[in-house]
Amino acid sequence: MASIIINGQELALPEGEKLNAIQAAKRHGIEIPYYCWHPALSVVANCRMCEIEVGSKDPKTGEIKMIPKLVPGCQTPAKDGTVIVTDSPKVKEHQRLIMELLLANHPLDCPVCDQAGECGLQDYSYEYGQANHRFVEERTIKPKKDVSDLIQLNQDRCIMCTRCVRFTREITQTGELQVRQRGHHAEIDVFFDEPVDNPLAGNVVDICPVGALLDKDFLHTQRVWFLAKHDSICTRCSTGCNISAEENKGQLWRFKPRANPLVNDFWICDEGRYSYIHANDQHLLSSAYLKSGGNHTAVGVDAALKSVSQTLSLVASDGGKTIAILSPFLTVEEAYLFASYIKGLNSENVVALGPVPVEGEDKTIKPDMVNGRSGDTSFIVPRPFTIHAEKCPNRKGVSAVLEHFEGEVIDFAAAVARVESGEFAAVYLASDSIDPWDDEPIAKKLRAGAKHLFVQDVNVTPIAHIADVVIAGATFAEKAGCYVNADGRLQYSEAALPPRDGSLPDLDIFAILLGRMPAPVSSRDVLKELASVIPAFAVAASGKLPEFGVLIGDAETPAAAVGAGFQDAWTQHRGAQL
Ligand code: SF4
Repeated sequence: MASIIINGQELALPEGEKLNAIQAAKRHGIEIPYYCWHPALSVVANCRMCEIEVGSKDPKTGEIKMIPKLVPGCQTPAKDGTVIVTDSPKVKEHQRLIMELLLANHPLDCPVCDQAGECGLQDYSYEYGQANHRFVEERTIKPKKDVSDLIQLNQDRCIMCTRCVRFTREITQTGELQVRQRGHHAEIDVFFDEPVDNPLAGNVVDICPVGALLDKDFLHTQRVWFLAKHDSICTRCSTGCNISAEENKGQLWRFKPRANPLVNDFWICDEGRYSYIHANDQHLLSSAYLKSGGNHTAVGVDAALKSVSQTLSLVASDGGKTIAILSPFLTVEEAYLFASYIKGLNSENVVALGPVPVEGEDKTIKPDMVNGRSGDTSFIVPRPFTIHAEKCPNRKGVSAVLEHFEGEVIDFAAAVARVESGEFAAVYLASDSIDPWDDEPIAKKLRAGAKHLFVQDVNVTPIAHIADVVIAGATFAEKAGCYVNADGRLQYSEAALPPRDGSLPDLDIFAILLGRMPAPVSSRDVLKELASVIPAFAVAASGKLPEFGVLIGDAETPAAAVGAGFQDAWTQHRGAQL
């Protein structure tokens, strides 16, 4: 088996993997600090922070020969017989010098810097730097400027790692950012004040390891150590990007990308990034309502659900039919419980898919695989990033559930036509969409076609105004459960916020209707149950998903899809400076 010698210890090197010294050391729990290296970008070795002692062991004689000078770890391939030393006095002295140089012109303004608490300069100063500062010359002062409506550049905090420049050249290929000037005058800038304007622009803030590029939307709003992070899935489109939903005291403050090599690599689009705002909307439904005498009266959710339950039971006992319309914003667990409830009342009842929002066409950003990122310098193969035109997270998952109960997926247009024909005595629409569903003419058709109309939503919509019962459901941030993305990948999303006053998570609403409450109902238990009933979800039989999700109806696992070693290497990177 191939091996690498790190700090005198012979350690296994996984077969068939392309790792550099940083990754190989990290695999064995040894940190080599770095700024400019990023696994999805070309290797430039310009920060010099990862320099280590490197040598090789002669396979026949066992003799070790070391290169006399220090070498960047990011540029050192980890091969059989490679010897690296990360903790010698020479390496440590070098790290101290680099930190001193990087901080020579730094304004040391941590108390007013948004990056404080998640800053590579702060962390490495503590770990590898030194307390004294010998630079007595006048510091180069550089102004801050906006490089787009949403991104502020603080040039005097920049360490010229060029991650941001490489991102716009290699990933988005829009090339808005550049390095201009030389030496200590060098600075990041945009071309002729053309702003950073691409669908993934916000990622330059995430990959900037210091407080140079900042998100103006988040600027001076929160200290990051007050934020609780939740592993969620973006619901803005059907890509299903992995995100960290970050909140403090019941309010969402930002979305950050989480790495998933099978979905979004390290990135999220700006559309998804700023969709967190919806969950903070002060005008969301915050009460249940019952209509009587033409007016809506606010009631407790229990009273509203009692009315729904009694009416639908009566409809069923009278031989009437109900149609449930399930939004593609519901989780698969919610869809399963809702469909179970409706079909359990009367097997003739129908479950159908709600409106699927579509805007424009899919946009795919293909990373540049040639210019500046040959196979020799990058350690992963970045995947194309698609922003889907389908603006909902779970059409595929809800459809798979509906197909099980109905034998087919009845789309919204067909559902509306059947309601108009007078086939149903009751319509129950469960929505939760990010953008309010405001198709008034269709709402009126649904109202006119059935005696009873129930609406469960987060927004105040035209159909809510004319419904008999309105129930406040949960926003994407208030619910836990699974979504199936456009590729068919089942992924778990954690709730980031508690339910708003007057609302309930949809899973609880359906569990109450099914008579399963007050015993607690968890999305995990429901997932296990539906996986045992619906063959497409059999891959989720344990109720727990692999870290990067799993394709439904398929035996594929993330490890098999990307190679076990690659998967591991990527996992190792998580938690480092993205
Ligand atoms: S702005 Fe940030 S990412 Fe860009 S070169 Fe400077 S430190 Fe690196």
